[in-house]
Amino acid sequence: MKTTDLKLYKGNIFYFNENITLKDFSPDKEAPGRLYHYIENGLLAVENGKIKAVGDYDTCIKDFQDAQIIDYSGKMITPGFVDTHLHVTQSGIVAAYGEKLLEWLNNYVFPCEAAYHDDLAARIDINFFLKELIKNGTTTACGYGPLKYKATDILFEELSRRNMRFITGNTMQDRNSPKYLSLPAKENYEIAREIILKWHNKGRLSYAITPRFAFSSSEELLGLAGALKMEFPDLYIQSHIDENFAEIEGIKKLFPWSKNYLDVYDRFGLATDKTIFGHCLHLTEDEYEGMRDKKVIISCCPISNSFLGSGLFNFRKMMEFTDRITLGSDWGAGNTLSMLAVLDEFYKISMLQDFKVYSMTRWFLATLGAAKSLGLSDFIGSFKPGKEADFIIIDPKATELLSYRSARVKNIYELLFVLMTLGDSSLIEETYIYGQSMKGFE
Ligand SMILES: [Zn+2]
Repeated sequence: MKTTDLKLYKGNIFYFNENITLKDFSPDKEAPGRLYHYIENGLLAVENGKIKAVGDYDTCIKDFQDAQIIDYSGKMITPGFVDTHLHVTQSGIVAAYGEKLLEWLNNYVFPCEAAYHDDLAARIDINFFLKELIKNGTTTACGYGPLKYKATDILFEELSRRNMRFITGNTMQDRNSPKYLSLPAKENYEIAREIILKWHNKGRLSYAITPRFAFSSSEELLGLAGALKMEFPDLYIQSHIDENFAEIEGIKKLFPWSKNYLDVYDRFGLATDKTIFGHCLHLTEDEYEGMRDKKVIISCCPISNSFLGSGLFNFRKMMEFTDRITLGSDWGAGNTLSMLAVLDEFYKISMLQDFKVYSMTRWFLATLGAAKSLGLSDFIGSFKPGKEADFIIIDPKATELLSYRSARVKNIYELLFVLMTLGDSSLIEETYIYGQSMKGFE
């Protein structure tokens, strides 16, 4: 007899309709019902890590008479969050006071990341980070990894142990960096190549070519990063762009031949439809057009942008050029891994620009929308049967305040708004990765 691990989850199920894109969300009104599914008293059936069925409890239960039921009545069952920009190595300097980007990197980030030269310290730190990430309900992320081979290998090992769908790579840098956190271009390249051969496309893991940013990269390094993309065309690329004015001035001096910041990456074949650019705050008109033409993936990191005083992401304008817009915590400069908090800040920075972003639109960006932008929507982002079962349980009564406030909402739109405005990791009751509860995972 074939053995399975069929499990049934009962609760209020919320997920987006498979076929929609950001363009389906109107800037002037909340999303119509055809864009999403909200099934109060629903059932999610999961088998061998995949979604088996989803629907109304009373109807669906008839197909699964003898299976184990896990009862989350009154709680929300929904796909896990996707965070498209964070730094695995920066837990040690979260909440470091008072600097803008370049000073902040030199004073806090670089010394902190050097701790990863010690393998045991790296493993302890990575485990701490992943525990926090999962506790916050994030099941997929694009992360900047350590500089060196061994620590990057440990990161992949730990991700593999949890069976997470994750995109990451060793962070490369060879200039404008302290000696202790800099490697010759060729060595960065060789580490990357070795990691790619060992880990890329292994299980649910993908490798991302990760030059920290052009400011800390020589032309030789960017050229070698481009060579990796030529050799392995399905790799992701991630880097920072147009975050801070001093950084942008620096780019003009370092690459005097360039038309703009985006042109630097493009010259080396690094602006592609699998490139995730963090920040995108101070774009020229040419760069907006370039982002559209190259079909790059945008990662807006509003908490980090506020914290470092970098600027305001212009969502309204970006949408005129592309729908490949996603959100990131930028953990490190971002002081939380909660995508609920990121969604809250995204609302606030848009309000500062007189633009109201509706609840459904925001939630979409951090779930199915991100999965689509990353080309992963065949695997994650909704509850279509056959997809991988990465989901979370949200308790809208997790705190006294939430309980008080959520008892007064009239519909799902208001509920989502309250969860994003008041929520953090405390309302994520459980995180399931590939059908496995991560509670107590060591
Ligand atoms: Zn970053």
